[in-house]
Amino acid sequence: VIEIQHLKKSYGNLDVLHDVNLSIDEGQVMTIIGSSGSGKSTLLRCINLLEIPTGGTIAYRGKKILDGNMNINSYRSKVGMVFQSFNLFANKTVLENCMIAQIKVLKRNKEEARQIALKHLSAVGMEKFAQASVTTLSGGQKQRVAIARSLCMDPDVLLFDEPTSALDPEMVGDVLEVMNSLAKEGLTMVVVTHEMQFAKEVSDVVCFMDKGYVCEIGTSDQIFNHPKEERTKQFLSRYM
Ligand code: ATP
Ligand code: MG
Repeated sequence: VIEIQHLKKSYGNLDVLHDVNLSIDEGQVMTIIGSSGSGKSTLLRCINLLEIPTGGTIAYRGKKILDGNMNINSYRSKVGMVFQSFNLFANKTVLENCMIAQIKVLKRNKEEARQIALKHLSAVGMEKFAQASVTTLSGGQKQRVAIARSLCMDPDVLLFDEPTSALDPEMVGDVLEVMNSLAKEGLTMVVVTHEMQFAKEVSDVVCFMDKGYVCEIGTSDQIFNHPKEERTKQFLSRYM
């Protein structure tokens, strides 16, 4: 679905991504693990066009996304992103949060948008809160709403940047459970996470990043049970 070749990103003379090559296949769950500062968020932000790469190419279903002919809003409805900090509209209700982009970007009418929103809110266990203001929700509830909001756009791929890192420990499980069921339904997902147990269970492909390089990539079994690179072993020993 997404093909990344020779991706580079620098900020001034700081090289954050060096030469990243990745292929994300249909229905696959890819997790990206690695130390703080290794470039995981930058990689996701490049895929979502929140950052413009310094070099290389990213293709979505065979179409280069960096040549300027892409409508960014419609691209982001196909390749959605869920953030650590939720990025919900704080002064709107849960339902409104899930309806706005459907109406503005996908040009759905209000009633249709409402039905679709309620369907996805129900799937994440948040339909009871449809009329609630976002400010009244816990972090875990906000993140489930943010996931429902992304699902309302009928995404082809969902990118997650540490979706549980800002949550109190007792909230983490609910969000991981939602992500687990999306994975089982066959949604193509790219997940940056420090939740190693989750990564181990859910990943088709695990990508270990180190200092802006893809240091090692393989199946969950290869990376977690039989890592080859010394850096991968060191990193995992801190977590497992
Ligand atoms: P973490 O696990 O802490 O989230 P990460 O792997 O997501 O880390 P990035 O956020 O991608 O890492 O950052 C990689 C490097 O790029 C870091 O050294 C960071 O300071 C730098 N960086 C990120 N964004 C910018 C920016 N907008 N301007 C300058 N430097 C940046
Ligand atoms: Mg990050």
